[in-house]
Amino acid sequence: MLRFPNVTWWCDSCGANLNCQEGFDDHKYVWKCTECGYKNSISKDNIFVEQGNYPGVPSDDDDSCDDSDGGFLGGLFRRFF
Ligand SMILES: [Zn+2]
Repeated sequence: MLRFPNVTWWCDSCGANLNCQEGFDDHKYVWKCTECGYKNSISKDNIFVEQGNYPGVPSDDDDSCDDSDGGFLGGLFRRFF
C-alpha cells in the first residue's frame, strides 16, 4: 500500500518520475533520486495538484475557479435574496 495513492512524485532537481524508479517507496520520508542523487522529501506538504491531472479539477485554475465561485455565490444570492 502506498501512503499517497494517486500521487506522482517528481524529482525537484531533475524532474524524473520517482514513482517509476526502482525500489521507490513513499513510506520513506526521503527518496534519493536514482537519476541525479537529489534527496527529495516525501511528505504531504510536498503534494500539489497538477493542473488537468484530476477529473473535476478545473484545468485553468485562475479563471475557472473565479468563475465557478462567482457562479456559486451568484446562485446563492439569487436563491436567498
Ligand atoms: Zn533527480
